[in-house]
Amino acid sequence: MNTNNQHKPTFFIKTFGCQMNERDSEIMAQLLREAGYAESFTVNEASLIILNTCSIRAKAEQKVMSLLGYLRKNLKKNPNQKICVAGCVAQQEGIEIIKKMPHVTLVIGTQNIYQLVPALHYATQGGSRVLTSLQDKYDIPRFLPNFSLDSPAPPFRKFITIMQGCNNFCSYCVVPHTRGREVSRLAADIVDEARVLVENGVKEITLLGQNVNSYGKTNSVVEGGVRGEYGFPRLLTDVAALAEKGLRRLRFTTSNPKDLTDELIACFGEIDILCPQLHLPVQAGSDSVLKKMNRKYSIAGYLDLVDKLHKVCPSIALTTDIIVGFPGESDADFEQTMTLLDTVRYHGSFSFKYSPRPGTKAAKFPDAVPEEVKSARLTRFQQRQDEISLERNQEYIGSRQKIMLEPEIGNSLLSRGRTESNHIVHLQEPIDGSPGDILTAEIIHAGQHSLQGKIETQGAVL
Ligand code: SAM
Ligand code: SF4
Repeated sequence: MNTNNQHKPTFFIKTFGCQMNERDSEIMAQLLREAGYAESFTVNEASLIILNTCSIRAKAEQKVMSLLGYLRKNLKKNPNQKICVAGCVAQQEGIEIIKKMPHVTLVIGTQNIYQLVPALHYATQGGSRVLTSLQDKYDIPRFLPNFSLDSPAPPFRKFITIMQGCNNFCSYCVVPHTRGREVSRLAADIVDEARVLVENGVKEITLLGQNVNSYGKTNSVVEGGVRGEYGFPRLLTDVAALAEKGLRRLRFTTSNPKDLTDELIACFGEIDILCPQLHLPVQAGSDSVLKKMNRKYSIAGYLDLVDKLHKVCPSIALTTDIIVGFPGESDADFEQTMTLLDTVRYHGSFSFKYSPRPGTKAAKFPDAVPEEVKSARLTRFQQRQDEISLERNQEYIGSRQKIMLEPEIGNSLLSRGRTESNHIVHLQEPIDGSPGDILTAEIIHAGQHSLQGKIETQGAVL
């Protein structure tokens, strides 16, 4: 750490949950650096700890509560330490967190993170310790990355949040309750953020939202414009124009199938740097379960989308999310999920046991599926997915793939890369290059979760 940092207050942020929380943590870190804090790499010594929390499933929430219990004991060694709870659990529980855990200094909600520094100051001066207001009409502040501070250099790959909240109210999901109504950021702010990143060496950008397909539908994203006139395909095109300045790859997540338009599907054929990969969560293979989930599409409609995607982009790698054991899911419903898995043959999936969440409609649905049935279904689904992922990965053997180099987790050696389809490729030996360089590899072996490759043109960075 820079020696100038020795007398600065320090912060440590622990992030739970999704990529949107990761991005919110980066924003909070930047705000704290701008206010004179330095980052601490140990929990015990930090002057301020922020837990940026997730409440999507009960397990995620329980982890936060047990960590708060641990931090309470730690206060005996470091009594001046401040603890802040941010994110979805903070939004959902508010004052209840302080009631259960009085050692918490501040509870800050999902729309309030930009006020973190004054809110902390206020809370430590005897002011309110809970700031969790959630507005329906809310302008996401313009916020640009600032690399002039002693923050780590930007990595070669970054996420940009393009919208907040969700209006879909899937019956199982807590997000509309914890992140509020859907609000899109101004397109100019997003493109400016992307430009700053690319000018600082970022080679790959992923645009993030709960349902990126509805970007610009609930509010205008152009100064003085009207809502709906500028949508997600246009944003993709405008960000992709940064290829001129060095952006090599563009991805996005997540897409609700109900809003996946032909125009957006066409982007996979038209935008060169848009990677041939799409996460398209289906959640269940049975129309009656989808109806109870309030997903607003049918399996026939979903399979139609899959066909269209393959026509526009035959090499596209599809992944999905599945919930097993939704209330009332019968054996026959679950078999339809298994059939769907064999029909689409996803490259990968995230699968979860249904977890009832407070305030959601499904939490009151009858016919809960017993825990052991949920577990058995999850195991069966995941085993079949692993087999299919292996078969899918084997299809790449003998092919030549452009891979973007990235460091191994836990060390800086460049002995792996990622294909455009988002598959990890382990290389036989470390490569002399920089993260973000693109090389061509021949795929020589496939496992369930990754590929192995041999660099064809060592030294020829594309
Ligand atoms: N907006 C995305 C969409 O519509 O597909 C999903 C975002 S959510 C943060 C990520 C995933 O968590 C969902 O796709 C769903 O599979 C899972 N999930 C959400 N609520 C859940 C619950 N109550 N129980 C189990 N899994 C849940
Ligand atoms: Fe949750 Fe549905 Fe919104 Fe996704 S689209 S965040 S699953 S409510």
